[in-house]
Amino acid sequence: MDKKILKHSEEVLSELMKQEGMSRRDALKLMGLGAGATMLGSAPAMAATDAQAAGSDKKAKIVIVGGGAGGVMAAARLRRAAPNAQITIIAPNDIHLYQPGQVFMAAGLYTEDDIKKPNADLMPDGVKWVKDEVKIFDPDNNVVETAKNGKINYDFLVVGTGLQYDYERIEGMSPDLVGQKGISSVYLNDPKSGTAKGGVATWEWFKQLRAAAEKRNPGNPLEVICTQPSTPIKCGGAPQKILYLSDDMLRGNSPLGGKDIHDNAKFTFAKKGGKLFGVKSYNQTLLKLTVDYGNINDAFGHDLVAIDADKKMATFDYHYLEKGEWDEDLEEFEVIPMVKKVEMKYDFIHVVPPMKAVDAVANSPLGWQKGSAKGWLAADRYTLQHIKYKNVFGIGDILGIPLGKTGGSARHHGPVLQDNLIAAMEGKELTAKFDGYTVCPLKTEYGKIMLAEFNYDGPAPSFPLEPSEPRWIWWVFDLYMLKPMYWNLMMRGLM
Ligand SMILES: Cc1cc2nc3c(=O)[nH]c(=O)nc-3n(C[C@H](O)[C@H](O)[C@H](O)COP(=O)(O)OP(=O)(O)OC[C@H]3O[C@@H](n4cnc5c(N)ncnc54)[C@H](O)[C@@H]3O)c2cc1C
Repeated sequence: MDKKILKHSEEVLSELMKQEGMSRRDALKLMGLGAGATMLGSAPAMAATDAQAAGSDKKAKIVIVGGGAGGVMAAARLRRAAPNAQITIIAPNDIHLYQPGQVFMAAGLYTEDDIKKPNADLMPDGVKWVKDEVKIFDPDNNVVETAKNGKINYDFLVVGTGLQYDYERIEGMSPDLVGQKGISSVYLNDPKSGTAKGGVATWEWFKQLRAAAEKRNPGNPLEVICTQPSTPIKCGGAPQKILYLSDDMLRGNSPLGGKDIHDNAKFTFAKKGGKLFGVKSYNQTLLKLTVDYGNINDAFGHDLVAIDADKKMATFDYHYLEKGEWDEDLEEFEVIPMVKKVEMKYDFIHVVPPMKAVDAVANSPLGWQKGSAKGWLAADRYTLQHIKYKNVFGIGDILGIPLGKTGGSARHHGPVLQDNLIAAMEGKELTAKFDGYTVCPLKTEYGKIMLAEFNYDGPAPSFPLEPSEPRWIWWVFDLYMLKPMYWNLMMRGLM
């Protein structure tokens, strides 16, 4: 860790003692690796998984597809665990983006350069890097077909391709509109070219929003819409992070400063579902927060389907229930699901794109062939092994499992994947299980995060601090500690 962080740590320590009322001993404990590690995956699990991590001296050909958070971590882990294996990673991207940092870019606290590293610096020694893209997965013949390097065969395959954005599913919307006509989208990035346009454009959007709000008054407020799509998305909290941070920016709490003018804007948060968060305690905190903010309207049941960028008009499918006829047999009224189009005029809109599995997986026998997860990697939710092709495993966002599209989840997939792939190499039973761990450091205002950790069973806090309470400490760790830990520990498969 560099001197700046160490010096900062002393300041954090005394603030922790002051703000969270902790003893120096407890504050030190919390500040250990575990505190930062919790946002990439919980500390107790970290210790357990590494202690159990399996190894094999078997010779085998392992191919990893994708050079993002999951793929690079898998390569580092498997390199150590299987020293005699021939490991190849197929990844097109020269640049690796620390994607969680895009939200801090949007908030004016990181620049694009802060979240980039050459992928060459992260590739483990002894792993062959084929700078290419897989076009066809042919698991019946244990082969992948690349764009430029022909066919590559394997004994074991790890799929870590992440997901792709589907802006065009919203009629009239395209990535090119991000940064124009009052439209932004923090998610937009291109790992291939190493750009995070969404972060840059959203900070500009913050500035334009402030400048426009300064010209309004509470009687004539700006209309701001923030959306969340109905598909699975990575970091499910990010749509709300932008909502709360942009509102708080109008209160004068961002690097832009200024006086509190948040009454000069009215925010609408539109999503198809009926909750702000799937876990009850976290949902309650957020519902209360939107009420306390005073100028946020939760438009549940609203799914963005079209944008007219010139007219600044958003169209939603509004899903609602209507009371039908009395049913004599059931002795209750029939409930009829209804959908109607609703138009909303806006001055500024933050669009979160629908997301889907990358085409190469979705169009192959590896994706779920039907059902709500159609196209996503058909893996077992616990072992991360493909349900049909037993020499295929998945890591990261591409997994078609109920939870886990975060970097913190990928960190938890790492040791499970390692143990189970090694067990498969050794012809042993697969015993490691992913528990659904997902973490969302939900930025509720500048300087506060609600660290929402949960798994298949519900809330899964790593520390004895009430997890549904937004805290200063999580903000500090997210802003200052997490990024170096991502580069230096997670990407090296050390946590
Ligand atoms: C705005 C934003 C905020 C976020 N905030 C958080 C947060 O606070 N906390 C958190 O834990 N997570 C957060 N995340 C999510 C986190 O970044 C992802 O969950 C994580 O990067 C997933 O890792 P991955 O390896 O599955 O996918 P990625 O890291 O996206 O990597 C996938 C890689 O596969 C490559 N690829 C795709 N198709 C192919 C192919 N056919 N052949 C070869 N390579 C291919 C891509 O080029 C890419 O490099 C955030 C993400 C965003 C965008």
